[in-house]
Amino acid sequence: MALDYAKIGLKCGLEIHQQLSTSAKLFCGCRPELFKEEPEITFVRRLRPTQSELGQVDPAAYFEFQKGVRIRYEANRATSCLVEMDEEPPHPLNMEAVETVLTVALMMKARPVDEIHVMRKTVIDGSNTTGFQRTCVIASNGEIQVGEKKVPIQHASLEEDAARKTGDEEGDIIRYRIDRLGIPLIEVATAPVIYSPKEAQEVAFAIGRILRATGKAMRGLGTIRQDLNISIPDGALIEIKGVQELELISVAVEYEVQRQLNLIKITEELKRNGVKENSIRENFVDVTEAMKETKCKVLRKALDKNEQILAVKLPQFKGFLKRELLPNFRLGTELADRARFWGRVGGIFHTDELPAYGITGEEVEALRKFVEAGEQDAIVFVADKSENCADALKAVVERAGEALKGVPEETRSANPDGTTRYMRPRPGAARMYPETDIPPTQVTEELVKVIRGRLPELPEQKLERVMKQYKLNEKLAKQVLDSEYGELFEAVVKDSSVSPTIVAAFLTETLKALKRDGAQTDKVSDGQLREIFRCVGSGEITKEALADVFVWLSKNEGKSVKEAVVGLGLKTVSTEQLRAIVDRVIAGNKSLIKERGEASFGVLMGIIMRDLRGKADASQVSKVLKERLMEAK
Ligand SMILES: [Zn+2]
Repeated sequence: MALDYAKIGLKCGLEIHQQLSTSAKLFCGCRPELFKEEPEITFVRRLRPTQSELGQVDPAAYFEFQKGVRIRYEANRATSCLVEMDEEPPHPLNMEAVETVLTVALMMKARPVDEIHVMRKTVIDGSNTTGFQRTCVIASNGEIQVGEKKVPIQHASLEEDAARKTGDEEGDIIRYRIDRLGIPLIEVATAPVIYSPKEAQEVAFAIGRILRATGKAMRGLGTIRQDLNISIPDGALIEIKGVQELELISVAVEYEVQRQLNLIKITEELKRNGVKENSIRENFVDVTEAMKETKCKVLRKALDKNEQILAVKLPQFKGFLKRELLPNFRLGTELADRARFWGRVGGIFHTDELPAYGITGEEVEALRKFVEAGEQDAIVFVADKSENCADALKAVVERAGEALKGVPEETRSANPDGTTRYMRPRPGAARMYPETDIPPTQVTEELVKVIRGRLPELPEQKLERVMKQYKLNEKLAKQVLDSEYGELFEAVVKDSSVSPTIVAAFLTETLKALKRDGAQTDKVSDGQLREIFRCVGSGEITKEALADVFVWLSKNEGKSVKEAVVGLGLKTVSTEQLRAIVDRVIAGNKSLIKERGEASFGVLMGIIMRDLRGKADASQVSKVLKERLMEAK
């Protein structure tokens, strides 16, 4: 059933982050690129909380520090230097990036700042070698038109991207690759005036179109990341981080509203049942003894390592832990996410899902006796090092207590299906302080004037022009402009003389289908795409072979279109060769032609195209076949 979001009182704000394809990073001359090879350099650092000038430490950051985590950074020389390693101060702000953000800001009618002040934002999960992220506001108070509505834009900022996590190692070491660190990111934030999931998506698309209009938006998975702020009146303000596809935004908003409504329902029921907050206590019981004969593999493994099994009773919670908040996502899942984060455990067990996983009914009964649990109580237990067990159960007890109050405020991260998981508590307010290594940068009136004089056309104007100029219908024109290839489309049409409809259909539907079938579409560069279409225009490859050539290039990185043609055996046949082939087929099917007359045309076409697919254009074959049939009469 569709929810009435206006009645629910949903409020949502968007923060869109887009990597910019400038010629250098934000604070040094390194190329803004990722590398796949083995790292040339690695170094280990320990996390330290950074004391802000106000003397405050972000609580989430401090927790990370307490966990004693070390970071192994990976680098190579092409994509990082001493700046990313925090061995050298940052260079002056990259003006190409500043101008790109100013372009976006002016397109959104925002007011540029007079002076850019770079600030430091505490980030101490290891994703920044410095312990902070540099960020600066470039313009504020803009608006964009989305349908009938004007959506206020709070600010357009410029940030440095963080290092990317590449894995965990034994012994509390996290691996990060610093190639991504310092890539310029534009951040655009709307006011929280979006009132439905559909509207959230439309606003995101509208912003996306403006970003791409600069021609400086990077392409591919992970180059755009959306954060959402979502709240409903009796729920809480939830921040969702890192939605990677624009299409997922409405799904993420729908899920979050659903999650909050279900949590509110649970709160009401728990209260009606008379569950009291002070009855949920950190009364942990060592139940290792009760489970020592268990056949459960996970528990067995822990017992063999001499680890502990620790349990806690949640009074009158029976049945609530298995309550679905979202498809395949229960209150128990929320408890487990907290346990994993704060206790670094693999997961939890709870009685709402038992007996199962090799744990028997008798063992559950024994457990109940051990922790003195009644029929209506739930039990949660974990197996790990005793310190981790206690941390995990503390987090479980805290989350269970919050279930009595409603929806806890927190930061959640987006999963690829639009659901979310607990990421960390909402960070404290005082996280920003000035970056003293970089002097303020003037935004002169002259600069603003120059940029205002060369603003790209607005997306709605572009749509109209593209439909008219290339004779595309509205649907296809919208699709191609909303795709990552909106900018490339016109360039391809200009230098290939291939029909705009064919180019647009290939860049949207065909590429989407190829991606769905597993083709790595990011591996084919803009230059290669232009070359493919140039070859189609000049008749060197047929339009039927487009997809095959594209897929071949995606699998054979660094190879040319010419090599693809050879590799695929797609050398097109000459008109003479084509005539010879047609004549041979006519000669071999004389009786059929005699019998069926003109109706034999389709059969003959089929036979010829089976051999020539990708090597000759169907319309060309049809023309030659008609001529030869006439002559053969
Ligand atoms: Zn660098």
